[in-house]
Amino acid sequence: MNPELKEKVQDIAQQLVEWRRDFHRHPEIAFQEQRTSQVLRLALEEMGLEVESLAKTGLRAKLPGKTDGRCVALRADIDALPVQEQGEREYISQNPGAAHACGHDGHMAVVLGAAKILTQLKDFFVGEVVFLFQPSEERPPGGAKLMVEEGALQGVDAIFGLHFWQSLPTGKVGMVKGPMMAQTGDFNITVQGKGGHGSMPQQTVDPILVASQLVVSIQSVVSRSVDPLKPAVVSFGTIHGGTIYNIIPEQVSLSGTIRTFDSDVHATVERRMREIVENTCQAFGATAEIEYKRGYPALVNHPEMVDFASEVTAKTLGEGRIMEIDPVMGGEDFAYFLQKVPGAFMFFGMGDGMAYPHHHPRFDMDEKALPEATLLLTALVLEYLDKNK
Ligand SMILES: [Zn+2]
Ligand SMILES: [Zn+2]
Repeated sequence: MNPELKEKVQDIAQQLVEWRRDFHRHPEIAFQEQRTSQVLRLALEEMGLEVESLAKTGLRAKLPGKTDGRCVALRADIDALPVQEQGEREYISQNPGAAHACGHDGHMAVVLGAAKILTQLKDFFVGEVVFLFQPSEERPPGGAKLMVEEGALQGVDAIFGLHFWQSLPTGKVGMVKGPMMAQTGDFNITVQGKGGHGSMPQQTVDPILVASQLVVSIQSVVSRSVDPLKPAVVSFGTIHGGTIYNIIPEQVSLSGTIRTFDSDVHATVERRMREIVENTCQAFGATAEIEYKRGYPALVNHPEMVDFASEVTAKTLGEGRIMEIDPVMGGEDFAYFLQKVPGAFMFFGMGDGMAYPHHHPRFDMDEKALPEATLLLTALVLEYLDKNK
C-alpha cells in the first residue's frame, strides 16, 4: 500500500477522534439527526464537496476525480439509540435519553476521514466518489430505503460500508460472502379474554393462560416448521398483562422479533405464528389481534466484492487482518443498497479493552480503530476506481 496514504491518515488521526467524540456528545435518534446532519454538511462543504440533502436528515456528497469513470459510494449511518448513557467519559452524551451506543459516531468519523483524504487526491483518480450519510438505521422502516428511493444510488456502480464491531479485536476485519445479516420482523399480539375475579375463573376467559400457551407453542415454529439447516430465531421481548394478584385481566399483550436469512423461511415463520395464535385463541375462547411488521431484508454481500474487499484489506492492513466470521442475526438496512448495486459490508473490529456490547448504556469503542478503518475505506475507493478505469 502506498505509504503516502498511511501518512495522510496519520495526519488526520486526531481529527477523526475529535469528530467521533463530537458526534458522541450530541447523539440524535432516528430522523431527528438535525445537528448531526448540519455538522456533517459543514465539514463536507469545507472540503469543497457538493452536498445535497435527502431522506429528511440524510446527505449525499459528490467528489468527482480528474476524469469521468466509475462511481463508488461509501455509506455511514448517523443515528443514535434511545438509551441513557452511563459512565464517566469526558465525551459522554449531552442529550438525555440518547446515546451513540452502536458506534455510528465512529462510522461518520471514518467516512468523513475518507472524504477528506480523497479530496486531497482528486486529481489522481479517475471516476467519482459518493459519500452517503444515512439517517435512522436503528429503527425500521429505516433511512436506507428512503435514501435509495430519493436517488442516493443514481449513477453509483458499487458501494462499501462498515460497522464497527465490538466482538472483533481492534483492526480485524470480518466479512461473509452472501447472507451476512438477517431479515428482521417484529410482532405485537394482543390476546383478548374476559376478566373477572381470580377466585372464580369459570366466569372468565383467562388471557394470561392463553398468552402462556402462545409463548411456548410459538417456540415450536423454529424447531418443528423450519428446515433445521436454515437459521431462524423467534424471541419474545415483552409480555404485559394484569394489575393485581386476584384479578384475571381482560387483555395480555406480547411482542417479539423474528430473524431469518431466507425470505421463504421468514414467510413460513409468520404463517405458522398466525395459525398458532388464531387456533390457540379459538381453543380457549379468546380472540387475538396480530400486528406483524416486516423489517429489513437480509443483508447479502456480493461474493466478488467480498473477494475484492478482502484483497484490499490484506494489501492495506496486512494478511492477518481478515477473520473468518459467521453471519449474525442482527438486522442492517445497508441491505437495501446491496439489493441495487454490487457491494460489500464488513465488520471492523474495535473491541480491544471494551467490556460492554453494542446497545449497552456503557458501550464504547477502541478509537485506535478509527485511522485503520479510514485507511481501508480510502483504499477500497482508490483500488476500485483504479481497477475499473
Ligand atoms: Zn445498533
Ligand atoms: Zn449499528
